[in-house]
Amino acid sequence: MALNVLWLQSGGCGGCSMSLLCADTTDFPALLRSNGIRLLWHPALSLAGEQDLIQLLERCLAGQLQLDALCIEGALLRGPQGTGRFHRLAGTGVAMTDWVRRLAGVAAHVVAVGSCAAWGGITTAGRNPTDACGLQYEDDQPGGLLGTDFRAGAGLPVINIAGCPTHPGWVLDTLMMLAAHQLTEEDLDPLGRPRFYADQLVHHACTRNEYYEYKASAAKPTDLGCLMENMGCKGTQAHADCNTRLWNGDGSCLRGGFACINCTAPGFQSPGHPFHITPKLAGIPIGLPVDMPKAWFVALASLSKSATPRRVKVNSHSDHVVLPPVARKTRLR
Ligand code: SF4
Ligand code: SF4
Repeated sequence: MALNVLWLQSGGCGGCSMSLLCADTTDFPALLRSNGIRLLWHPALSLAGEQDLIQLLERCLAGQLQLDALCIEGALLRGPQGTGRFHRLAGTGVAMTDWVRRLAGVAAHVVAVGSCAAWGGITTAGRNPTDACGLQYEDDQPGGLLGTDFRAGAGLPVINIAGCPTHPGWVLDTLMMLAAHQLTEEDLDPLGRPRFYADQLVHHACTRNEYYEYKASAAKPTDLGCLMENMGCKGTQAHADCNTRLWNGDGSCLRGGFACINCTAPGFQSPGHPFHITPKLAGIPIGLPVDMPKAWFVALASLSKSATPRRVKVNSHSDHVVLPPVARKTRLR
């Protein structure tokens, strides 16, 4: 039996769907089919129109069509005044929040696709006039639209495939695991993110690791050096495998020259400082690596800075390799 997946978009930018289309395959429908995934409906990928969708939703609610995975992309807009009427599902006049609550009640699994659906994400930034939230979180506070105690039919809480956008591989691997009945609560981290990607750090396999080791830091956007000390990089704290599971098979924010902004974490959208600047206290970055005591970091940083090879120091402030590694004889004698 295939995994019946229904994908609805709520208050987001649609970027997570765009990301899905960059899945590493030449035949996306065949990829789904061959892994036992049946897409019942997706707003951008399905031909079926409004009335067909409404019938499909009614059949799911009536138990005539098994809903195995309800995927929600985008934050849930609860305003104004708790009515949800800022976002009504076209052709129904009914608030999307109502549809999502009712469908979540019959779904075997509920999946938040992207950080908007997981925590509220970008949609909640600033004053949050739409009273947006995530499916089971409001920022880092459990609750959200469905409430702390919500469990889908198969017993799991909302599966938060966080990321802005989320990586197509994270979505497809999660759906494949669900289709194979291989995703358990132990496979989710404390924030409900699948551990196969959330137990990694963006820092792992970053091409700037040598610069990080010597604290040879970039001073301006085009520099090759590590972006942590001055340019706002949170890769040492960000749970994701972006530099080992590359994007489009080839890239990552860091490889494109951009600092990691920790988009898989609640609250990333409002860090309290410009994304491209590292906040500091007495010259020491505030956001230090997750597992490292501050005193150790400061001691190691000063030691490694004093040991920085000239090549690394020079290249860290350049937009290309100025000093190549010395070529030495490597044959053992
Ligand atoms: S998580 Fe990011 S990319 Fe996805 S819908 Fe929200 S704003 Fe767009
Ligand atoms: S730029 Fe960021 S992710 Fe890359 S090595 Fe430096 S701290 Fe780590």
